[in-house]
Amino acid sequence: MTTPLLSHYVAGRDLSSSATQSTSVHNPSTGEVLGLTPHGSAEEVDQAVQAAKTAFPSWRDTPVSKRATFLFRYKELLEQRFEELARLVTRENGKTLPESRGDLRRGIEVVEFACGIVHLIKGETVPQISAGMDGATTLEPLGVCAGITPFNFPAMVPMWMYPVAIACGNTFVLKPSEKVPLTALKLAELATEAGLPAGVLNVVLGAREVVDALCSHPDIAALSFVGSSAVAKHVYTTGTAHGKRVQAAGGAKNVMLVMPDAEPESTLRAVLGASFGCAGQRCMAGSVVLGLGDQGDSFFQGLRAAVSSLKVLPTDSHEDSEMGPVIDGHARDRLFEVLEKAPAAGIQISAQSAKIPEKGFFVPPTLLENVTAQSSLAREELFGPVLASGKVQSLEEAVEWINGGGYGNGAVIYTREGGAAREFARRVHCGMVGVNVGVPAPMSVFSFSGWNQSFFGDLHVQGMEGIRFYTRQKVVFSRWDDHYFRTQGW
Ligand code: NAD
Repeated sequence: MTTPLLSHYVAGRDLSSSATQSTSVHNPSTGEVLGLTPHGSAEEVDQAVQAAKTAFPSWRDTPVSKRATFLFRYKELLEQRFEELARLVTRENGKTLPESRGDLRRGIEVVEFACGIVHLIKGETVPQISAGMDGATTLEPLGVCAGITPFNFPAMVPMWMYPVAIACGNTFVLKPSEKVPLTALKLAELATEAGLPAGVLNVVLGAREVVDALCSHPDIAALSFVGSSAVAKHVYTTGTAHGKRVQAAGGAKNVMLVMPDAEPESTLRAVLGASFGCAGQRCMAGSVVLGLGDQGDSFFQGLRAAVSSLKVLPTDSHEDSEMGPVIDGHARDRLFEVLEKAPAAGIQISAQSAKIPEKGFFVPPTLLENVTAQSSLAREELFGPVLASGKVQSLEEAVEWINGGGYGNGAVIYTREGGAAREFARRVHCGMVGVNVGVPAPMSVFSFSGWNQSFFGDLHVQGMEGIRFYTRQKVVFSRWDDHYFRTQGW
């Protein structure tokens, strides 16, 4: 049987692609090919943009309370289909079922946030700003917006974007990762089922040709991107050069500092989850753990034992799997290569899960020790289940390590000392800080704010900055004289 070439989803229905090139969508737990993502062309992108452009005037003029009604119905439908969607995420991405549920839940929380659009989109008024004149601001939609997303959160990352954009009255073209298009297609079909008019949300499939066509398309007003820093920078530069508003979130290398007074059990659980959850494929993953002096030795002993005993099993068939595969053979081979080279650089592999499944794209969860701030393993994003660890002599040295890194998504401190936590939170140069939490993961009501090479743009994703990103402000000054009352009477 030949593997099916997937279709775009445009104007509320499937649109076949005439692409001759494609990317295989795998079940990473087994290597089985689930479908082929066509590498869509600039013409196919244009068809999706024209569908969104056609749908825009009437969606913009749909009363905001009616747009909210759609979002409530959509949320309800997502809840009804929750388990089916979570299993789809596991099938095409490989994360464990509880992780897929979390991926979807965080996305649904953005829909819930967007349900409040009537309040969120309120402008401001100043009566009598001048004699006989009132001033008011309105937040108006931009037009056609587009979103380009990575493989690691097939549900949540697209949902950072389109629910907020369409709640604001825009129409949307989503380009999901070619490695995980199935969840995005299903989310768009469910939007139609929940009553979203055709053309308001479209999905166009493909790789870099589609991204470049979106960055330069004259009818696209704004672009949201989430992925690696190199591509984020490219999308930001190209999109803004074509006059678009762009927000582009990139990669990360997040450091966790374990202070000597940290509560041992909860810290171990948090570090383990942050580093090996989603097989380390999270932009907020804890990828470096630092101990302070020699006092952290017992923590590292516990960590070695915990890493070695992590249960790595195919996630589509074992609900008790504690860690799944990485996304594809390319990611797996790259990680094995890094691990092979580590000893020559003086880095010790001190713990590694002994057993991994033979089929699929598995990499053993690995703890590296003796990593220094200058080492590439402390600086470069690996995006896999490899936790680098090292020692610092002071909180100040840890802050220098973090601030010298170049990225700026997140940093975490584990301590029972309020003063140390406060100092750490104040001095690290990154957008998300955790105190005694695993991953300071984005939540729908707060805008997600990476710093440095982890973000290009001004207004961040979701929360109130998301509303600002997908709207533009108009100021209306109105002067009313008493002509009406003079001529009509009271
Ligand atoms: P990626 O950059 O390879 O791909 C992201 C998107 O860009 C995909 O849709 C892909 O088709 C497209 N793309 C890839 N290469 C391109 C190119 N050369 N030109 C134009 N478009 C291109 O990222 P990925 O491997 O899918 O995801 C992992 C990366 O995403 C990691 O770096 C991770 O840290 C990052 N990420 C960041 C956040 C965040 O919020 N900062 C969240 C999730 C993932």
